[in-house]
Amino acid sequence: MIMNPITTILETHPIVILDGALATELERRGADLRDSLWSAKILLEAPELIRAVHLDYFLAGADCAITASYQATVAGFAGRGLSEAEALGLIQRSVQLAVEARDAFWANSAHRVGRPRPFVAASVGPYGAFLADGSEYRGDYGLSEAELLDFHRPRMAALVAAGADMIACETIPCLIEARALVRLLAEFPGVHAWMSFSAQDEQRICYGERLVDCAAFLDAHPQVVAIGVNCTAPALITGLIRAARSATSKPILAYPNSGEIYDAATYSWHGETSCDAFGEQSRQWYAAGARIIGGCCRTTPDHIRALADWARP
Ligand SMILES: [Zn+2]
Repeated sequence: MIMNPITTILETHPIVILDGALATELERRGADLRDSLWSAKILLEAPELIRAVHLDYFLAGADCAITASYQATVAGFAGRGLSEAEALGLIQRSVQLAVEARDAFWANSAHRVGRPRPFVAASVGPYGAFLADGSEYRGDYGLSEAELLDFHRPRMAALVAAGADMIACETIPCLIEARALVRLLAEFPGVHAWMSFSAQDEQRICYGERLVDCAAFLDAHPQVVAIGVNCTAPALITGLIRAARSATSKPILAYPNSGEIYDAATYSWHGETSCDAFGEQSRQWYAAGARIIGGCCRTTPDHIRALADWARP
């Protein structure tokens, strides 16, 4: 099996720096994401904005672009009248946009000083993201493992075929979906993935299973090369990192959201931001054992810059 980009970067750098929110930056550039397809809608309407945001994050210091495929599924696009072939084409476009941004960034030799070549992680959002009803933070789908596996298969096949460097399974709320995804990964030998959960407190993922048990399950799967949490409030992250570490020696991911709460009914965020000291907070997550750090919803290139400031002095 070939080396995965996370292991390669961690051989020479203290952490892998992920990017921050895609949707937040697309909105700042004028995109309207009040839609059940969310950022996937922009794949259809304004793909050049997605490429520009990826480039912003590389310039801010990110080693990785997470593609705009989180909410891009065959079933979701079918609801807009797109054929399966058209949907799969858009899903693959998400990888190409990130690769184009990465290659443009890396073509400038001034950008290569003291940093690794960035990689492209193809986002696989949970089944609940396709439902667009907030259930990605609950995990109460009522689907079997086999049904979840069938739901995820076409997108993962498209992402792998498009040439992503690895797969980013993210905001996974329940262990049954992680089980389905690792079974699906086995259909793509040689492909590496990270598995990142959304969590409800410092011990438990959103559906209620203990993160330590999820990490113990995943520890046995060689294609899963990193385990962690994302889209979870910053205040919970240190405890969750410790919980994951107690069950695995694989690198631990932490990419929290801003601490605000998402309202799926209105496509809006409420409450207070709790990531204003992102540089210091990310140092604490590193001290707790996280080795892959970035931001999820509502974070910006400024947060990634604050992280790169200490991680890539
Ligand atoms: Zn998020």
